[in-house]
Order: sequence, then C-alpha cells, then structure tokens
Amino acid sequence: MKKNLETLCVQAGWTPKKGEPRVLPIYQSTTFKYETSEQMARLFDLEDSGYFYTRLANPTNDAVAAKINALEGGVGCVLTSSGQAANFYAIFNICEAGDHFITANTIYGGTYNLFGVTLKKLGIECTFIDPDWDDERIEAEFRPNTKCFFGETISNPGGNVFDIERFAKMAHKHGVPLIVDNTFATPINCRPIEWGCDIVTHSTTKYMDGHATQVGGAVIDSGNFDWEAYGEKFAGLTTPDESYHGLTYTKTFGKQAYITKLVTQLMRDLGSIPAPQNCFLLNLGLETLHLRMPRHCENAQRVAEWLEKNEKVAWVNYCGLKGNKYYDLAQKYLPNGSCGVIAFGLKGSKEEAIRFMDNLDFIAIVTHVADARTCVLHPASHTHRQLSDEQLLEAGVRPDLIRLSVGIENCDDIIADLEQAMKKM
Ligand SMILES: *Cc1c(COP(=O)(O)O)cnc(C)c1O
Repeated sequence: MKKNLETLCVQAGWTPKKGEPRVLPIYQSTTFKYETSEQMARLFDLEDSGYFYTRLANPTNDAVAAKINALEGGVGCVLTSSGQAANFYAIFNICEAGDHFITANTIYGGTYNLFGVTLKKLGIECTFIDPDWDDERIEAEFRPNTKCFFGETISNPGGNVFDIERFAKMAHKHGVPLIVDNTFATPINCRPIEWGCDIVTHSTTKYMDGHATQVGGAVIDSGNFDWEAYGEKFAGLTTPDESYHGLTYTKTFGKQAYITKLVTQLMRDLGSIPAPQNCFLLNLGLETLHLRMPRHCENAQRVAEWLEKNEKVAWVNYCGLKGNKYYDLAQKYLPNGSCGVIAFGLKGSKEEAIRFMDNLDFIAIVTHVADARTCVLHPASHTHRQLSDEQLLEAGVRPDLIRLSVGIENCDDIIADLEQAMKKM
C-alpha cells in the first residue's frame, strides 16, 4: 500500500510480525549467530544478506534507515555516526586522489572545511562556486576528472535556497551526479530526488531527531544515476572490486550499486556507524517530524516578519519573506515552508549583538540548530570562527550574522524574549 509522508514518519521501517515488539527494539549486539561455517562464509562474500557484525549492518539501524529512505524516495539509505561522516562518505564513495568535484560555496562551515582542507589532504580537489553565477561561468569549472556536484537545499547558516533542478540538469549534462544535503528542509518540506538530485545526505542531528539527543547522518541513493554510462569515470562502481573477489557493484547490485559500495567498502573500512541506541532515539524524533516541521515554519515566518519590522534590526534573511532574494526558489522547492532557521543582523557593533544574545531568557546560546528549543548562535565567533572574513562572506555569512533557530514553543513567548533582550541593548 502506498503511504503518505505522515504515515511513513510514524510507521515506516519497523514492521513487527506476530508476537514481536510494537516499538522498534534496540539490538544492542555487535554480532549475530549462524548455524554453520558455510552460512557465515556466504555473508562475507556478499552472496547472502544477513546480519553478522554491527559495523556493517544492525537491525535497529536498518529499520531507521529504511524509514528515511522511504521519506526521501530512494532505493537505499545508510546511516552514519554524524552528518560530517555522511557528506564525507557521499563524496569519497565516488572520488579518490586525483579527482575533483564542484560545490556551492554557501555550505555549512564544517562541510566547507571537510571539502576545502581535509579532502584536499587526500588528494581530492574541490572548486567552490557561487550558485548565483550564470550557467556559463559555473560550467567552465567542470573538468574531465570532475566526479560530482554538491549543494545544500537550504544553506546553513545563510538560508540560501539551492536551485536543485537547475544544478541537476547541469551536473547530468557533464556526466556527474548531483548530491544535495537536505538537512534543513527535511523530506517533509523538500524531496530533492523528485527534482533530479541523485544522492541525498542529512545531518540527522538536526530536525530529524529534533530533540538534540544524538549526532547522526544519512546518505540516500536515488538509484537513478547511470554509472555505467560513464563507466571509466566511475571505475570504482563499474569494474571489479578486488576486496570482494572481483565483484562489480553495478553488475551485482544494479540500482543499489552506489549505496551497497558505500556500506561494503567505506563502512567496512572506515566504520563511522551510529550506535543502535542513537538510531532508536532518532526514530522517536522521526515519528513526529511531520508535526514539528510545520510548527517550526509557522513560528519562523512570524518571527521573521516581526524582525523585519523592528527598527533595531539591520537585515533579515528568511526565504519565506516576500522581498527575499530566494523567495521564488522557496515557493518552487519549499511550497509548504522552508525551516525554522532565520539569519539576521542587528544595527550597531558586534558587541551589541553579543549583549543581545547574553540578555535572552529561555532562548539559549548553543552550538546547535534545528531542534524543538529556540536557540541563537553567532557563527563568526562560534561555528565559523576558523574562516577568515573573506571566506565568511564567500560562504554567505556576514560577520554580524546571528543565526536564530526558531523552535516549537509558543510564538508570542519567543517574540517577547527577543524583544526584552533587544530593549537591553
Ligand atoms: C550540522 C550540519 C552538518 C554536519 O552534521 P553533524 O551531524 O553535526 O556532523 C552537515 N550539513 C548541514 C547542513 C548541517 O546543518
């Protein structure tokens, strides 16, 4: 039976049979038992599927992965121990030393570092483009060794909306997949695969969990990219893997080639798995994602409109505001709302912004975003402090930018807290 998103949030992934627990159990076990040596050998050769070691697969983790996969409309999903691991795996699964890829420059600071600094040390080069450039200028950055294109549906913290359809077409024209980090929108507000995106990533730490109880990530494969059409470019998927007795992923696993390789090679060798306990918590969050997201968006819209009218506020960036640069893109990709995160700047010095934040009552200063509790952060002095002012501006982060993550409390209370803190500035 085909189910709607709301039903998938509650029901997908874990389908108990007679006498089994209704609630997803936590399989807190590293290993799984078999009867014969032969059964175990077939698992290692990928000839049978079954659980044998939690680094490769665990029933709790798999149930939650299946739910996220259903929400995004993919052919397979792998959960990782963090959003950082998810983005690293998504890229590293098809890029190796000597390869190149292209990314929007408006991405999350942690991803910016991963791509620009750490991947560089592994010999993978990355070009940061401004999504506002015209096609010709961006397309000039594709090289023969370019392997993918990357962007965030809604960028953290700038709030820019990524034109998924445009960049999917561009990536495909150059024979590479589009990878989209859909953390802020969540599949409730946008499903990038429906717009031509090939691989979706998440930091499940944010709205998906929604209660700030665990750090996690996910990679979802649409199964739509034709790796064999560019067989030489994606040799890791289309030629025999010596570490699996010469198995070829595209031949053996078809549409699930990419996601299977990600588990059997990267997870096997690098091992960034989430704990089953964390997946259990993530699943509890997912059960109410469809209820929380509309409330985040409704509150954020009201707060953004209030900020925009406030004389102490210099500027507000929220794609739900009519005058916003990304309003039209948001109407296209996020018609039911974007997310709860607003970026704004206060008039006056940086010290004034800090005083404002210190004066808040229940709105907390935390290095987190996108959970049920309203919080603030000053990226230039917190998350993005490793970037220079020039890099900050390139990443769409103005030095005076305050990131306000609007929660699901009573909106009058949120506005009252902001107002009293501004009065004390
Ligand atoms: C937080 C975040 C990440 C990193 O995720 P972690 O779970 O903190 O490792 C990646 N992308 C986006 C858009 C994020 O907001």
